[in-house]
Amino acid sequence: MAKVADKYLKVDPWKIIEEGFHPENGRVSESIFSLGNEYMGVRGYFDEGYSGDQLIGSYFNGVWEEKPIIHVGKYKGLSYRWAFMVNSVNWLLTKISLDDEKLDLNTSEISDFTRILDLKTGVFTRSFTWNAKSGKKLKIAFERFISMVDYTVGCQKITFEPLNFTGSVDIESGVDFSTVHEQQDNKSYWGLEKSGQTGNFTAALGKTEKSGHKVMSAFRIVSAQAIGIELISGHKQLATKFSLKLNQNEKSEFTKIVVNHAVKNAETDIETVWDQGSAIAHEYETANYDELLKKHTEYWKEVWEKLDITIEGDDENQQGIRFCIFQLHQTYHGQDAANNIGAKGLTGEQYSGHTFWDSETYCLPFYLFNNPAAAKNLIEYRYHTLPQALAWAKEQDCKGASFPMSTIDGTESCPVWWHGNLEIHINAAIAYAIWHYQKICGDLSLVYGKGIELLLQISKMHASRGNWSPTGGFGFYGVMGPDEFHTFVNNNAYTNVLAKFTFEYTQDVIQKMQLADPERIKSLLTDLKISDNDLAEWKKMADKMIIPMDKTTGIYEQHEAYFLLPHLDIHSIPVTDFPLYDNWTLPRIYRYDMIKQPDVLLFLFFFSQQYSLETKKINYEYYEPRCIHESSLSPSVHSILAAELGKHEEAFEFFNYATRLDLDNYNRNTREGLHTTSIAAAWMNIVYGYGGMRSDGDVLVFAPSIPKIWKSFSFRIIYQGVLLSISVKKETVNFKTDGKSIKLKIYGTDYLIDGNGTDISIPEFYKAK
Ligand code: BGC
Repeated sequence: MAKVADKYLKVDPWKIIEEGFHPENGRVSESIFSLGNEYMGVRGYFDEGYSGDQLIGSYFNGVWEEKPIIHVGKYKGLSYRWAFMVNSVNWLLTKISLDDEKLDLNTSEISDFTRILDLKTGVFTRSFTWNAKSGKKLKIAFERFISMVDYTVGCQKITFEPLNFTGSVDIESGVDFSTVHEQQDNKSYWGLEKSGQTGNFTAALGKTEKSGHKVMSAFRIVSAQAIGIELISGHKQLATKFSLKLNQNEKSEFTKIVVNHAVKNAETDIETVWDQGSAIAHEYETANYDELLKKHTEYWKEVWEKLDITIEGDDENQQGIRFCIFQLHQTYHGQDAANNIGAKGLTGEQYSGHTFWDSETYCLPFYLFNNPAAAKNLIEYRYHTLPQALAWAKEQDCKGASFPMSTIDGTESCPVWWHGNLEIHINAAIAYAIWHYQKICGDLSLVYGKGIELLLQISKMHASRGNWSPTGGFGFYGVMGPDEFHTFVNNNAYTNVLAKFTFEYTQDVIQKMQLADPERIKSLLTDLKISDNDLAEWKKMADKMIIPMDKTTGIYEQHEAYFLLPHLDIHSIPVTDFPLYDNWTLPRIYRYDMIKQPDVLLFLFFFSQQYSLETKKINYEYYEPRCIHESSLSPSVHSILAAELGKHEEAFEFFNYATRLDLDNYNRNTREGLHTTSIAAAWMNIVYGYGGMRSDGDVLVFAPSIPKIWKSFSFRIIYQGVLLSISVKKETVNFKTDGKSIKLKIYGTDYLIDGNGTDISIPEFYKAK
């Protein structure tokens, strides 16, 4: 792989630590130290402001603003509206002055800087000593968390300790709607609609210009000192001003409890939002920081008891995988079915807060195996956006439903038309997700309820979007597969394999429902005008689906004519050329056999048990040297396959990259936000890669392997309601349930695993030497 790590953070099993201020990595740190709770998120920016390079990023899941997408000329079926997760209120706004000198880490002299994200507790701290021009030395410690329990609540604590003086410090603390959205004209999209007191909270209510979404941000300052508070208002800001008395070598602090109420629609009027926000704030009139913190840290304690993955003998990857789990869980845990997972979570503006096929293909397994309710919500999100998908299919001259590749509100919002219009594989990803959910969670209610409607509408779309070739095969022309370095291709193997699967699975569900719920399936087929002839046609399309492959070598051809493309030695690309989109023209990127991410390898993994080890080996060895991993989703899938093939060193190299992608800034773009959906792939990398799990058959199979430098590793999953613990040592692996018995296939042999646990020896092939 032509990517190299950029290391400046300390390695620690439970903490992310920046020791000494690294302004050159300021934005990278802001992304890495992000906090969120699915409802809202903030980057790890400086509370007190900073005149250097920074992005004050504060986001609410599903709160968006819109702008037109300008194309040259008017073409049918393009997306003309860009809905993006809009940067919102800075509820951490603080200004700190000492004798009229303003604290600003860009200009102030400081020492002993540390910034720490404690993964165990979900608390972010930062501290340093301010060596003021007056000669005064003031130690300042900032602490913040976003409550995982009280999801509208964010808290901040600032502690001052004068090291060589007694005096006072002047503070302004409040909320600010003037935060700009950098990528969309660098302007603030918020108007301040109302502000003032509500109970013992001070509040401001902002509304976006076009979408009419609203956020009310109410705060309360608490201090042991009797501080006289003066209210000041600035441009789109509301703050309180006060002084804290300081005694030499003693700590003085204040805390700020913030309640944020977000309303994601234009209809609710300002007064109603104010009343709702006030009612929520009033619940926290007497809540104090420590109580709220205790609930929050207890929540994380319980989460880690279920979700932790331990790695003995490799602190870097131990830290990396815990960082991934932490970020993924805080970004999404199924709190609200209206939420989804943006490619960057709630940590930056890049990708506009949009949800992609990543949710179904890369993120879903994490939830399937530890939080089935969240997995169900994630799939149902698509059902709630079915009306938009039906409209989009019509726009595309298709029938049924065509789901968006890139969206925050269910409409296609991809400004790059050849991605938005051609990556139809997002649809089959939803079908695959329904199938996977049914298999793993053993719950038929989703598939027989909302699932079948989605399946039927997607199949209708596939039937109308595909074409018969002159030689009698069925396929998809003018598409883009998962590999985004080849566009407008014909018969992308992945797209076709997944569409074939969707037709077959839909027919299978119809048949099962004809026995289980004949009335419902009959009326659904009638309502959706799907005849027996249509069903017969779908069957034919599936049977005749074109899956390009060279029969002499057994290599699947990524798309028709891919094998004729010029070869590019990807190792000849200098590291300074990355990210390629910034440094190479699109025609230069698109005209080689270089691929951005796994395409053929992905379906070999998704339907692993249908393909022989030999097929996987041949295809892996062909495509791996052609893959540049310009999508962060890519390395994990390679690691998973490499582990299965006994290519231990490669598996480990890819795994390092996946778990530490952001911590080591491999793609040189962590500054834009975390690769939240790739983080999910890192989890898959442990469970499917080193655990060797495959979940596409009737029984869950495992074939654990262990990297050379690890002494052991362990993880837990929930499978059909049973908690299964897997602990892998150098020579043996132990499987144990919470008491109930389950059937598993381990290294090809059937086992009944129960609460007593079973030790199994690791075959030589799976040991890295
Ligand atoms: C990848 C897509 C992915 C998107 C969002 C792109 O770089 O190529 O597959 O959906 O990022 O993560």
